[in-house]
Amino acid sequence: MPSTDLLEPGVVRGRWHRLLADGRVECELCPRACRLREGQRGFCFVRERRGNDIVLTSYGRATGFCVDPIEKKPLYHFYPGSAVLSFGTAGCNLGCKFCQNWASSRARAVDARTEPVSPERVAQAALDTHCRSVAFTYNDPVVFAEFAIDAARACRDRGVATVAVSAGYMNPPAREEFYAVMDAANIDLKAFTPEFYQRFCAARLEPVLETLRYVARETDCWLEVTTLLVPGHNDGPDEVARLAAWCARELGPTVPLHFSAFHPDYRLRDLPRTPAATCARARAIAIREGLDFVYTGNVYDPSGQSTHCPACGAIVIERDAFVLGRFRLQEGRCLGCGAPIAGRLSAAGNGCWGGRRRPVEIPP
Ligand code: SF4
Repeated sequence: MPSTDLLEPGVVRGRWHRLLADGRVECELCPRACRLREGQRGFCFVRERRGNDIVLTSYGRATGFCVDPIEKKPLYHFYPGSAVLSFGTAGCNLGCKFCQNWASSRARAVDARTEPVSPERVAQAALDTHCRSVAFTYNDPVVFAEFAIDAARACRDRGVATVAVSAGYMNPPAREEFYAVMDAANIDLKAFTPEFYQRFCAARLEPVLETLRYVARETDCWLEVTTLLVPGHNDGPDEVARLAAWCARELGPTVPLHFSAFHPDYRLRDLPRTPAATCARARAIAIREGLDFVYTGNVYDPSGQSTHCPACGAIVIERDAFVLGRFRLQEGRCLGCGAPIAGRLSAAGNGCWGGRRRPVEIPP
């Protein structure tokens, strides 16, 4: 059963807010701390003040379901080759100028014709489409946290794993509830300077670092990290080295880091694509800084996208884009030297979904 109060189709009472002395209600879900008067909406646009509450207006309002390879999230150490049922809603609590999903993240409202989908229906749809997991993605699940949590619980009840793809901009109380029910997460670390977060994302770096630390150290949620390299703004060797050294020290060397190539989009259309060589350079720097698993993304680089055993260097999971090749692991260990490879890599969970994305209709 959902743990939320359904007020009307698609609208639930939010869980994280407080009434201020000046009569405004402050949303405590994310560090943006929107302070709202009656009828006002927050920065994410899907949360609105009603009375002394803040309500979520996108509960169960999915903007499209697709079956994806899990590698597309990207998660490379979480049931490799398996299919994941992916969906998002509308709105976002960051304002990234380079957003690669801006059509849904910047949507001001969920399509009124969308039929609500229950948490149980999401979980059942994953079983019906033979997906090992469900991913809350396309827009940041922080803004639809109540629905993501309810859906994750319904998935757990049915043996389906759950994945959050997020920017990690979330306050501690909500974060604890959220990550307690997620089995894996890919969290963006968009850069390693407060200036970049402020200028390009209208956000702050420190809360993201706190979320990364929290997930890595205090939860059972499998974590991978993604940095989109924006030419001339966060791809310098010094910044990459500091970012990678922080990840190795604070998150641990076995947390995978993905360097993904930027393509011109949304409000940053005047910049060039990130060259493959820049991603390869960042990968080499991060390995030198002590990370065991560093990948490139959005460029042609089969070696940089394959998993190498950190002990003997052999390829243990071969990839070409999202398609798997040789799989040289047994019980999570390198077949060559026997070294353990971190992740959820049990043979039972692996598959051969391939690289394709398939849209699916999920009836209400
Ligand atoms: S979740 Fe939305 S309403 Fe709440 S503080 Fe963040 S941006 Fe504002």
